[in-house]
Amino acid sequence: MIQRPRGTRDLLPPETRLWLAVETVAREVFASFGGEEIRTPVFEATELFVRSVGEGTDIVHKEMYTFPDRKGRSLTLRPEMTAGVARAWIENRLGDRSQPLRLFYLGPMFRYERMQHGRYRQFSQIGLEIIGADTPLADAELLAAMHEFFVRLGFTDLQIHLNNLGDPEDRARYQEGIRVALTPRRAELCSDCQRRLEENPLRILDCKVPACQVIAADAPGVDDVAGDPSRQHVAGVEAHLQALGIPYVRNRRLVRGLDYYLRTVFEVVSPQLGTNAVLCGGGRYDRLIADLGGPAVPGVGFAIGEDRLVEVLPARFKDAVLARAALYLVPMGAAAENRALELARGWIRGGVPVELEITGRSLKAALKRADRDGFRAVAMLGDDELKAKTVTVRDLAAGNQSAVPFADLPAWWQALPPAREAARPE
Ligand code: AMP
Repeated sequence: MIQRPRGTRDLLPPETRLWLAVETVAREVFASFGGEEIRTPVFEATELFVRSVGEGTDIVHKEMYTFPDRKGRSLTLRPEMTAGVARAWIENRLGDRSQPLRLFYLGPMFRYERMQHGRYRQFSQIGLEIIGADTPLADAELLAAMHEFFVRLGFTDLQIHLNNLGDPEDRARYQEGIRVALTPRRAELCSDCQRRLEENPLRILDCKVPACQVIAADAPGVDDVAGDPSRQHVAGVEAHLQALGIPYVRNRRLVRGLDYYLRTVFEVVSPQLGTNAVLCGGGRYDRLIADLGGPAVPGVGFAIGEDRLVEVLPARFKDAVLARAALYLVPMGAAAENRALELARGWIRGGVPVELEITGRSLKAALKRADRDGFRAVAMLGDDELKAKTVTVRDLAAGNQSAVPFADLPAWWQALPPAREAARPE
């Protein structure tokens, strides 16, 4: 038996309904904030990620799916989307359009992760980028759109963590500060962090090894050494969030795992998720497009991990999506079978979701199945019904049965109470 590759998943019905519903909400919310969808290739030149995500990061260092194509060009399955969006922005001269651009995306990303719950080698992200605005208001709007998305899904327990990562000019000073603070404890760090101490000390703050986290707690916070411009910027973002009543906490340890961030960085954490609690990460990247050879254009964005999001969706949202609300149309006899699809199509056009019985089940077997699979109602069509141009419908929640003229079926369906109400004993 051929099995799926490690770290990948098959998303099966009915769970795929949750994915579709979440994606629909994302598209609606982000579009209502002025967003447009962007779709970029799933693989890009390896160089793109090395130059943007950064050589000293875990992603580039050990998590990329990199392969030569048949002509020997090095390609990489995208581990994240911002680099591709920035590349597309430059390549398609999106700067010629009026700014800013609000671009959202949904799609699969690939990282060669060590296997553990909540970490997959193919996973999906939903993200939004605002490119061409450098104001605190841009960051606040981005966070407001993100917050709105979570609110629409019914979340009440998520926490936004926010930090100032400083400007690149502050970075050298800060890296040095961590190096000086942690070098005396070098031997206690994991082997990765010993390497990070030389190459990119900032990344030690990101390390998942508990001993390293304890030691990193002694390092200075970026905000302690950051210059005034970045501090004022992040203070501006905070003022907007407070005015909007969007709760957040300042987390001075937060650095994020990608090198292109500066100034505002944030994460959204779900208390339900345990060790991999981060549901969303993002921040500002004002130098990224210039670093990739484009003009100096600022940007800010986030990416939500859709796999983890679906795992912790609020029960109300889930129940509403998963409650099957279709009509099961069961034709009895050859004449009914011949008419059934045409009737079904008419009702579907009238807004009724109809699932036709197409395997030739007996009525008895069909009613059993209707119960098992949770249909809202069954419509039975036999010779008598054909003659009378009615269909015998059974409301499975209320348990009652009636005859409805073919043409009236959509109206009858729209008038059905939700299953839970119909079943409530009076
Ligand atoms: P990042 O691009 O690393 O900032 O990740 C943004 C979000 O994507 C994270 O907060 C996770 O929710 C999700 N994510 C990242 N890597 C994985 C993975 N290997 N498996 C599942 N979700 C992931």
